[in-house]
Amino acid sequence: MHYIDGAFVPAVHTAPVREKATGAEIGRYALGTAADVDRAVEAARRAQPGWAALGAPERAAYLTAFADQLRSRYDELVELSMRETGGVRAKAVDEVSAGLKQLAISAVEACGTAGEVLQPYKAGKLSLSRAVPLGVLGIITPWNYPVNLAMRAVAPGLAFGNTIVLKPAELTPIIGGQVLAEAAHAAGLPPGVFNVVEGDGPEAGHALAEHRGLDLLDFTGSREVGTAIALSAARDLRPVRLELGGSNAFVVLDDADVELAASCALIASLEFQGQTCISASRHIVLEPVADAYVAALTRKVEALKVGDPFDPASDLGPLISEVQRDRVHERIVLPSVAKGAVVATGATYDGLFYRPTVLTGVTPDMPAFAEEIFGPVLPVTVAATEEEAIELVNGYPMLMNSVFSRDLMRGLAVAERLNAGEVHVNDAHARHGAENQMPGFTRRQWIGVQRGPLDLPGWTRR
Ligand code: NAD
Repeated sequence: MHYIDGAFVPAVHTAPVREKATGAEIGRYALGTAADVDRAVEAARRAQPGWAALGAPERAAYLTAFADQLRSRYDELVELSMRETGGVRAKAVDEVSAGLKQLAISAVEACGTAGEVLQPYKAGKLSLSRAVPLGVLGIITPWNYPVNLAMRAVAPGLAFGNTIVLKPAELTPIIGGQVLAEAAHAAGLPPGVFNVVEGDGPEAGHALAEHRGLDLLDFTGSREVGTAIALSAARDLRPVRLELGGSNAFVVLDDADVELAASCALIASLEFQGQTCISASRHIVLEPVADAYVAALTRKVEALKVGDPFDPASDLGPLISEVQRDRVHERIVLPSVAKGAVVATGATYDGLFYRPTVLTGVTPDMPAFAEEIFGPVLPVTVAATEEEAIELVNGYPMLMNSVFSRDLMRGLAVAERLNAGEVHVNDAHARHGAENQMPGFTRRQWIGVQRGPLDLPGWTRR
């Protein structure tokens, strides 16, 4: 069901939502059309001036009420996330908590500074800059962390006076859209401030991405779709903000604590079955420790249990879909093996349950090295020197890397030379809160104030 202009709108055409571990139908989502997107954008446009005109504490109170509504359904949301994404409980807790945290952070930020007073450029002038909402935001989210990734954009967007049309991923429309709409509605957000249009990417997603009534499209998803959106936006000069994927690297230097590195590798590569944008999908290991690292990795990976996320013994749940499983197996693992990679463990599956897989002898010409895997695969590549390891890492799109060395200064020196936005030394996926920074849903307005009588230069005409 869509949520447009403060009302739940039943759709003519719907499709099933499935529990990933069992395949059972757990709900339905609306197959939204361009007309639904039009209605939602128009509602958001009408609501925006009134929303922006509210005092910041009032908007913050709405965000707090929104969070309270979600928190009152916390256990239900965690279970829904487990069913809809296939993640184990710890992943679902992480996701839902991060979404709530984002609302809390944005509620505080909304009441903080909204600009600055600058040093005057000239005597007698007062210069200010202030943060102004962009207007109407379109937000398109993926299926892997549907609550957290929606809230990462929705919460700061709303806090700073923007209104929103959200299109959640079709694989997770309940947790990623329907329950958010219910919570916003129960929290009493004014009609049109927060809208949800459900639907498939090529139809509803495409219509939102191309909509000329938006002031910004915020897209989180694959490089493939992100590239198409960027190309189309460039033709009309429509503003878009893209959060995409990459091929993240995990570097083990020859003086590393191999056991620590292998333990961290499980988090880096296998959290949520490796289906996160920050998953390590290339392990670059210096030769002297390569055998020990592969042995430790294989031992730890073989001890993991793959099964129903509701079984507390399960470390990994199912992959999100058959399409994703086939991508991992047929487009990444098998072609890499055909080119000479060796399966140390794994590379088998039962339905959507894919055994975590260690591949050795991986070289840059293999898909397991160069492409984002988005599955539970740990490809290991051996480098002869530190310099070669750095060269192997760089030159690919990356979000997050790790470096392991017992010598902290050496680890830091290597980290500085890796071209990822975030690098950890002797750690994996350490949450430093970088993901919770305000992602800039305001624009800067510069203001000049003439303090005294105008000092007209000689060239003015009277
Ligand atoms: P996807 O690109 O297939 O889909 C993402 C969203 O885009 C979905 O809502 C989908 O319906 C929509 N979409 C699909 N086709 C579209 C089109 N033609 N026009 C407009 N919208 C369209 O990605 P996914 O499989 O859902 O997610 C996995 C990808 O997301 C991975 O590449 C991962 O790295 C990336 N990701 C990035 C981050 C980040 O913060 N950088 C976070 C999570 C996931």
